[in-house]
Amino acid sequence: MDHFADRGGALFAEDVDLTALADEVGTPLYVYSTATIERHYRVFAEALAGLNDPLIAYAVKANPNLSVIATLARLGAGADVVSEGEMRRALAAGVPPGRIVFSGVGKTRGEMAAALAAGIYQFNVEGEAELHVLSDVAVALGQTAAVALRVNPGVDAKTHAKISTGRAENKFGIAIDRVPHAYALAASLPGLRAVGVGAHIGSQLTDLAPLEATFALLGDLVARLRTAGLAVERVDLGGGLGIPYRTGDAAPPTPADYGALVARATARWDVRLMFEPGRMIVGNAGVLVTRVVTIKPGEARSFVVVDAAMNDLLRPALYGAWHDIRAVTPRGGTMVATIVGPVCETGDTFAEDRTIDRVDAGDLIAFMTAGAYGATMASTYNSRPLVPEVLVDGADWAIVRPREDIAAQLARDRIAPWLSNH
Ligand code: PLP
Repeated sequence: MDHFADRGGALFAEDVDLTALADEVGTPLYVYSTATIERHYRVFAEALAGLNDPLIAYAVKANPNLSVIATLARLGAGADVVSEGEMRRALAAGVPPGRIVFSGVGKTRGEMAAALAAGIYQFNVEGEAELHVLSDVAVALGQTAAVALRVNPGVDAKTHAKISTGRAENKFGIAIDRVPHAYALAASLPGLRAVGVGAHIGSQLTDLAPLEATFALLGDLVARLRTAGLAVERVDLGGGLGIPYRTGDAAPPTPADYGALVARATARWDVRLMFEPGRMIVGNAGVLVTRVVTIKPGEARSFVVVDAAMNDLLRPALYGAWHDIRAVTPRGGTMVATIVGPVCETGDTFAEDRTIDRVDAGDLIAFMTAGAYGATMASTYNSRPLVPEVLVDGADWAIVRPREDIAAQLARDRIAPWLSNH
């Protein structure tokens, strides 16, 4: 459920009229709803309420805007980060270091040192070589790093291939049979404290069965490690819960279904459980509002050309992802069109031959469910400035990232000295 709704023939974000907002801020723009973010976090937390002190570490990659993280930090969320930049964002937004988990398959020594200096809660380590490097860095700094091993369970998450992370051929994690050896190594290396294991098998999961299979494997693994005399005090179950993108599609499993599965599967583990939800917290909490530049009748199909492009919202071009499309102020009636941006790539297509609300040049349309993996994946391709982000809270709104200034974009480049004399 989200807080974007039609009010008297115009789309609102909570109590803010998107047409007035777009007129004031300009288009394209991302708009996020505080009430939706808060609701999704609370629903997720309530689904896990029966567990003993779970840590919900919001996956910052889904939407790293400082105000979004701060909204969640106020509710008690931790953060799952995969770079020094994300870690600094989490800290700047008020997430206590003791609730930050550092994941990722290619942490550098510099990132490890920065995270140790910040005093984060845990590193999720992806391989034995990384254990040696982290041990080295921790010893050099006179620190101890709490380490959980990311397990590659060899489970197909049955999601899009590009966001599946738990199969043997994926780059992520340590093959489950190899984990006891790696865990013993982690327990023996100086500067490390082996605290647990974890898995994240993919994103936008619409079936709980692969998670159930993964949890069963993790449960067996914990038992095996303990039998080998190794202490296990934490298990990180990752993120990945899918969300509804397309009106009319079967609803994905609810957080309550997920919570019930977790409770059942982990009842006898005697560990602190950790979670890394991203998309399910912020996905439906954001829209990308764009203006129709022109309608271009073509030989084979008609194009609606909008002022947003693949550089602003990459998911359709990257994954063939679906976003519902709504006119902000519907004129009545529908049309079939291919919705494209101005970037010089045929892949700059948001939807092909889609039946949408009838629109004309100058009208506003909204790409729904754009709060996760939207602005964060944006680039400046075609020298387009990064679009602004607005956070709404009831009738209040604030620009939480201004539109990038083209002069500032230019100023980041330098003319090489041998070119600057003419
Ligand atoms: N944790 C890890 C390690 C991830 O790689 C991701 C995303 O890919 C997430 C958590 C968040 O996943 P989601 O947004 O599907 O919940």
